[in-house]
Amino acid sequence: MNYDVFVIGGGASGLMCAITAAQRGRSVIVLDSSNKVGKKILMSGGGRCNFTNLNIEPDCFLSSNPHFCKSALSRYTQWDFISLVEKHDIAYEERDHGQLFCKNSAKDILAMLLKECEKSGVQVHTNCEVTAIISMAEDNETNTRFKIKTNPDHFEAQSLVIATGGLSIPKMGATNFAYKIAKQFILPVISTRAGLVPFTFSGHYKTVFERLSGVSQEVILSTDKKQFRENILFTHRGLSGPAALQLSSYWKSGESMFINLFPDDDLALLIDKSKKDRPKLLLRNLFAQLLAKKLVQELETLFWPDWRDKSIADIPDKVLKEIALTLSCWELKPSGTEGYRTAEVTLGGIDTDSLSSKTMECKTQSGLYFIGEAVDVTGHLGGYNFQWAWSSGYVAGLVV
Ligand SMILES: Cc1cc2nc3c(=O)[nH]c(=O)nc-3n(C[C@H](O)[C@H](O)[C@H](O)COP(=O)(O)OP(=O)(O)OC[C@H]3O[C@@H](n4cnc5c(N)ncnc54)[C@H](O)[C@@H]3O)c2cc1C
Repeated sequence: MNYDVFVIGGGASGLMCAITAAQRGRSVIVLDSSNKVGKKILMSGGGRCNFTNLNIEPDCFLSSNPHFCKSALSRYTQWDFISLVEKHDIAYEERDHGQLFCKNSAKDILAMLLKECEKSGVQVHTNCEVTAIISMAEDNETNTRFKIKTNPDHFEAQSLVIATGGLSIPKMGATNFAYKIAKQFILPVISTRAGLVPFTFSGHYKTVFERLSGVSQEVILSTDKKQFRENILFTHRGLSGPAALQLSSYWKSGESMFINLFPDDDLALLIDKSKKDRPKLLLRNLFAQLLAKKLVQELETLFWPDWRDKSIADIPDKVLKEIALTLSCWELKPSGTEGYRTAEVTLGGIDTDSLSSKTMECKTQSGLYFIGEAVDVTGHLGGYNFQWAWSSGYVAGLVV
């Protein structure tokens, strides 16, 4: 049971690393504790896998070291992955913001990776747990071999790649394995938290949002530091939709966030103009031209209940100004997020300071590599997380 390369985790990054290494003639085994590899690929992008983005830029990734991702992303780009997809005749389409999705099914991407594994001789084992990893220094102390114990087999390998992802969606087989191995080899881990995850609310806003459940609206959603212009979606628990998911990766517990419900308009000016041009109009009818009707009803109850049946002309300018300000900068304090149960990604992870950005090898433990979501690099929504998995897997695959 001797291999050149032992990859633990058969997700996006692990499979890419295995394929790249096997194409170089290395003997490679991928081991996964789930009954099936690539489960997250299958469930991604609503079953259509948003596999990359045309606009991959380093500032679409969060990390304690924002420069770390640059090297891998430039050595295996979105164009490299797109040509692989095209080589396999997989139909795909561009959606908003340069997001590329399969036209048919995410199954096409997994089938492509498994075909490449088979072609290059990668062995894939599922339903297999690693019980211990032992590093054995070779004669000159700088080279290490790894003994990997599973139940019932023992393996040996020259290179060990940890590609077991993060903590999001435990039901899909997510484990803290990567962090446990980091601890064993005394590598720092940046504290983890759920990212790309819906916000939850308690109290009065929870009931308001329950009533609005299913309503979606394009807004600018912001914290003091970051803003996203996309849709929000009201849910039974709080707020979701692309804008909320994106902001969740930047939001810290206890912080407020702000919704500008009129991203294209100066609302004070709009109201002022309506007061002159259509003085008999009710505020709700003015806003219903730009917002979902159900949302306007709730806003009316929240912010101008005493003026609901007055025409704009009868509402004092001071009150109108306050309403305009509130709706352009609606402050909300989420009680939290839905957590790892529904999060698309895990923020934090293996500290990039302990890894080479060119190869993903540990600086203090030769032959040990961490790739993909296990590492403290997290992408925005829109295909960035898969691109990081492909790129980090590829650069490790070139040297393992
Ligand atoms: C619902 C959902 C939708 C998503 N949609 C998109 C999208 O459209 N576009 C995008 O870019 N990103 C998307 N993501 C994020 C993306 O799936 C991940 O960032 C990506 O899969 C990370 O790749 P990875 O190889 O690091 O980890 P994973 O793909 O999570 O793979 C880890 C593998 O390791 C295995 N494993 C875990 N623990 C052990 C262990 N102890 N021993 C052995 N094996 C183990 C797991 O079974 C799994 O097969 C989505 C995520 C979710 C949850």
